[in-house]
Amino acid sequence: MKQRTLAIIKPDAVRKNVVGEIIAQITQAGFKVLACKMTSLSAAQSGKFYEVHKERPFYGELCDFMSSGAIVPIALEKENAVEDYRALIGSTDPAEAAEGTIRKRFAGSKAENAVHGSDSPENAANEIAFFFTESEIVANNA
Ligand code: ADP
Ligand code: MG
Repeated sequence: MKQRTLAIIKPDAVRKNVVGEIIAQITQAGFKVLACKMTSLSAAQSGKFYEVHKERPFYGELCDFMSSGAIVPIALEKENAVEDYRALIGSTDPAEAAEGTIRKRFAGSKAENAVHGSDSPENAANEIAFFFTESEIVANNA
């Protein structure tokens, strides 16, 4: 069954000018882009997006980083999208990510790790709704 997930190209990767290469790797892996835009978040908006991590020691650093520049959120669709996209990006820490994964290729550190990926279909739905309305996704794919 088709499933959705949310990717975000993070500020470090936008600064490195590798947006195109990352999207190419995602689409070559069989994902369909349902919606995509370049935008940016305030520290407060980053805090809301990453609210599940608010007790973690790196929360402040994460919010500062995610609001440090432009980001590219992308709603994706594929069979088994959540798990397959997590496999495509690799481990949170690029030092531990498998060869050829997006984080291995483009991430500089565990904090500044190039891309986000949803961790469950339920969170994917919420995260997609954070950036895109359902009607714009439908209109984009009519
Ligand atoms: P993932 O993005 O792989 O799902 P997490 O959900 O655990 O990883 O963490 C969310 C984000 O917080 C990571 O992608 C990374 O940017 C940042 N992060 C995670 N762990 C650390 C850490 N130990 N130090 C600094 N930043 C971290
Ligand atoms: Mg996560």
